[in-house]
Amino acid sequence: MPQKTFDKIITNEKIDTRKLTRARRIMSKLYQELPTYIARGHGPFLAAIYDERGHLIAQAANTVIKSKCSHNHAEMNVLRMVERVLKTHDLSSRNLSLYVTSEPCMMCLGGIMWSGISAVYYGVPSESVESITGFDEGFKQNWINEFKRRKITVYGNIESAIGEQILREYIKQKRIVYKPKRS
Ligand SMILES: [Zn+2]
Repeated sequence: MPQKTFDKIITNEKIDTRKLTRARRIMSKLYQELPTYIARGHGPFLAAIYDERGHLIAQAANTVIKSKCSHNHAEMNVLRMVERVLKTHDLSSRNLSLYVTSEPCMMCLGGIMWSGISAVYYGVPSESVESITGFDEGFKQNWINEFKRRKITVYGNIESAIGEQILREYIKQKRIVYKPKRS
């Protein structure tokens, strides 16, 4: 039933099964490794950047609490690492893909856009992140089409049920859901 496989996938291009198969494999690996990062005090989000041949360049989790830095989301951390490793502020000629266990927040969409990343693959959609955890993902209307306009491919909801289960577990463990207190 190949049709069913694509039911929940969100994308801004015609589905490419080769890309999707690779994304499912990488996302499953990230979900497998994420609980270990959480146990070490990281936030419940993990990102990785791969080159076009499928080689891992760098991987990073969210370190907001550990590093006392509000913008150390997994995506920002991994972009910083890759730009340092490749010694460039502009990744656009490298055809790199970013994989992240949850949909990027409004800050990370900006960071990704200005980095020159070519494709974004994410797991859990923001509405699920917000309803399960209470994290605030920001406002980011129509971003998938905005990325298409800028030639950035997006695939979302990849193996999201597994990712949602990890977020539920994070809440069950009473770990910190950090956001500014504005009361
Ligand atoms: Zn973010």
